[in-house]
Amino acid sequence: MSEKESFDPKWVADTSEEQVPAEHQPAPGNKTPLVIAIANQKGGVAKTTTVVSLGGALATHGKEVLLIDLDAQANLTLALGKDPSRLRGAITDVLFHSSTLLSVSRETSIPGLDLVPSNSGMDLAERFLPVRKDYESILTRTLSAELRPRPDTGDQPTEGNRTTPSYERNFPVIEYDYVILDCPPFMGAVTLNALVAANLLIIPTQPEYFSAHALRTMMTLIRQVRSQQNSKLVYRILITLFDKRNRIHRQVQEQINNSFGEGVFDTVIGVDTKLRESAIEGVPISHLKFPGGTSRSALQYDALAQEIIQYDWQHQ
Ligand code: ADP
Ligand code: MG
Repeated sequence: MSEKESFDPKWVADTSEEQVPAEHQPAPGNKTPLVIAIANQKGGVAKTTTVVSLGGALATHGKEVLLIDLDAQANLTLALGKDPSRLRGAITDVLFHSSTLLSVSRETSIPGLDLVPSNSGMDLAERFLPVRKDYESILTRTLSAELRPRPDTGDQPTEGNRTTPSYERNFPVIEYDYVILDCPPFMGAVTLNALVAANLLIIPTQPEYFSAHALRTMMTLIRQVRSQQNSKLVYRILITLFDKRNRIHRQVQEQINNSFGEGVFDTVIGVDTKLRESAIEGVPISHLKFPGGTSRSALQYDALAQEIIQYDWQHQ
């Protein structure tokens, strides 16, 4: 089958029917953290960039965000200016040794943005996770044990009018608005854990013909997770690395929109070399100062953050 043929909308028509029906309605002030997995079996499609940039954009809207690095390459950890080899405590301790997220999470230089780092130990995850009992739901259980809805009562310590998770390290729960999971570039035990734990799956997709294969694999996995572990999983495709002057990009974008309809974010992320600079600087694009003002991709990731904030993902 040629790459072009593989984009036959027939296979997506089946799966788009399974998309949980969605109406746009305002979020009713619910404080349960929204868990967002960012996954695609392809590497280099801006998964990690989206985790950092969306996290930074949500933080600029006053949200409390926890980013969890699930990839052995630890690019998320590096992109936030942390050296994985020098950190004590990582996601491996949570997945293999039942450590709490709280004990391995740390603040970043961005207020409202905390990180659970990764390290090369995650290389062993695909081999050792499946040995553990109910391994697909280890992350789900950890999150539900630790991330509780924010209490409405005034008996929890707060700092000003902002509840500060890192301030509450002596308390057994952490309170976030969003938890964002950065997945490795393959569909194994780790990505499965993320999809089982997530309310929303974002699939960053480059608008190239060969992306269809990765999308098809994702749809198969979504169907499997919905039928077996997480019936409410919602997905949205995010078109990334878009070059509007490229005819193929425009064509593939149209095909993706036609095939997936509401399953595609309105926001599109264009090519912007400043995103590379922000990774080198170790801060999200939203917090990187440029002489010419805000970069285009910072505005686009801000638009994505607003799409996510405005929509009630958990009660559709
Ligand atoms: P993944 O996590 O899917 O492997 P990354 O987020 O690491 O992908 O991105 C791969 C490379 O592409 C990185 O060098 C990153 O800086 C770059 N990149 C990501 N998004 C963009 C964009 N919109 N414009 C230009 N470069 C980008
Ligand atoms: Mg990555």
